Amino acid sequence: MITATALHGCSLIDGEWVAGKNGEITGFDPRTNASLNPSYSLANSAQLRAATTSAKRAFESYRLTTPEVRADFLDSIADNIDALSGEIVQRASLETGLGTTRLTGEVARTSNQLRLFAETVRSGQFHRVRIERGPRIDLRQRQVPLGPVAVFGASNFPVAFSTAGGDTASALAAGCPVVFKAHNAHPGTAELVGQAVRGAVEKHEFDAGVFNLVYGRGVEIGQELAADPNITAIGFTGSRQGGLALSQTAFSRPVPVPVFAEMSATNPVFVFPGALADLDASSSLAEAFTASVTGSSGQLCTKPGLVFIPRGVVGDAFVALVAAKFKETTGQTMLTQGIAQAWQRGVDNLAAQPSVKILAQGTPGDGENAPGPVVFESDVQALLNNVVLQEEIFGAASLVVRYDSPDQLHQVANSLEGQLTATIHASQDDFQEVSKLIPLLEDLAGRVLYGGWPTGVEVGHTVIHGGPYPATSNAQSTSVGTLAIERFMRPVSYQTFPAELLPDPVSEANKWAVPREIDR
Ligand code: NAP
Repeated sequence: MITATALHGCSLIDGEWVAGKNGEITGFDPRTNASLNPSYSLANSAQLRAATTSAKRAFESYRLTTPEVRADFLDSIADNIDALSGEIVQRASLETGLGTTRLTGEVARTSNQLRLFAETVRSGQFHRVRIERGPRIDLRQRQVPLGPVAVFGASNFPVAFSTAGGDTASALAAGCPVVFKAHNAHPGTAELVGQAVRGAVEKHEFDAGVFNLVYGRGVEIGQELAADPNITAIGFTGSRQGGLALSQTAFSRPVPVPVFAEMSATNPVFVFPGALADLDASSSLAEAFTASVTGSSGQLCTKPGLVFIPRGVVGDAFVALVAAKFKETTGQTMLTQGIAQAWQRGVDNLAAQPSVKILAQGTPGDGENAPGPVVFESDVQALLNNVVLQEEIFGAASLVVRYDSPDQLHQVANSLEGQLTATIHASQDDFQEVSKLIPLLEDLAGRVLYGGWPTGVEVGHTVIHGGPYPATSNAQSTSVGTLAIERFMRPVSYQTFPAELLPDPVSEANKWAVPREIDR
């Protein structure tokens, strides 16, 4: 277990806190826009290369760690994060404006995620071992880690999708060292978690290059990191613009590498008449919808940004309830001044479109950057004719879209961009129509929900937090849950190997007790 040291204000390169030589930045308190101490010096190209070189060197030994050793390491990171939880929550709240209750939950989610990944490493399923002993030829297959992974965290989850969040945890579980590009909106939080990871690296006497934490601007050092020949894969959560820019760099390298970028989604919700038939049910739905849009100031990649409501009496009643609920809301501080300004531009742009009206707006919150949540209303035809209505507004805003018939929902499902989630609300009376929509929603999204709301992502073995472009750059994977480990691995097969040379998971002895498919 470790205790926090004073913030160093610089990058962690090959195990040392190293002053950067490329200017500096500070974090900001978004409640006041005041800058925060300490300032963070930014790494230059040579310092970045030192980080990636150490990661490449560390890969040689880290890839060979046994499941028990690697799992214990992940548990140690989790223990260290828990030990620093108080400091992490305070600093993250200062840098992001998020409340301490939400952040306490996020820290616990992060350490629990690491422990779940540790369990998965011990169980060995992710090696995906398949053995065919003959009769013609002996062939054995398993997955091996890719190599050093560059990770870019998001602004909206300063812990769970950041320094030791899902991408870092899955890369380390796979056997890949990580070079993490700290998010400039929460530099102190990134460092505190970096201290937790460094403490675990030291405790297990690993090569220090297993984990590097680099400060710099995304457009400079982030781009260089994506282009660095020592980097073999990229994990990213954030804007479509950032994810695409990194993808282009990674794909145009002399040796292109995979990019797993989670970017943007509007997370459509399809409400059938049966779900609104009863006024109590309709009222609960309106309340839950409002909470889902406004929680964390709407800054969640799974926020429901489009809700399809039938025309007619029951739909009108629901819309009136939603308007009343939104009027009661109060804005919460957004993550940065820039993100609040981007939200305002998105809201103004949507309000200016023909056939779109503001249904209701809440009251701004105290301090800076806390605009009142907004709900708009329009109809399917307008949505189909105008892509602006389909664009994500990152923050507390949503569009209620009225439809005339279930056929229109099919048209919508066929025309929307790829999504992280698609949600159905219905009753048994609607099932015939719902069943026709389901295949379209499978094509549309990585996670299809019946009932409930898409915000609140379970971390487990079966969750998919991914989906077709632009939800992600690669729909064949997930950025949450243990399946994420396999993104940073690739299959290798061993043909007619002498028994003594076979790696553990595919050997007859199977000392790691990895689950295997044999001679099927
Ligand atoms: P972001 O701006 O894409 O930043 C994520 C990370 O990528 C940061 O470390 C950033 O560096 C880096 N980066 C950004 N552009 C880059 C580029 N061209 N090349 C290399 N690296 C780059 O995402 P965010 O901070 O989470 O959100 C900011 C905006 O994205 C918001 O205004 C929001 O509208 C939109 N957005 C975010 C999400 C989300 O889930 N987070 C979802 C939808 C939309 P810096 O530290 O230098 O910024």
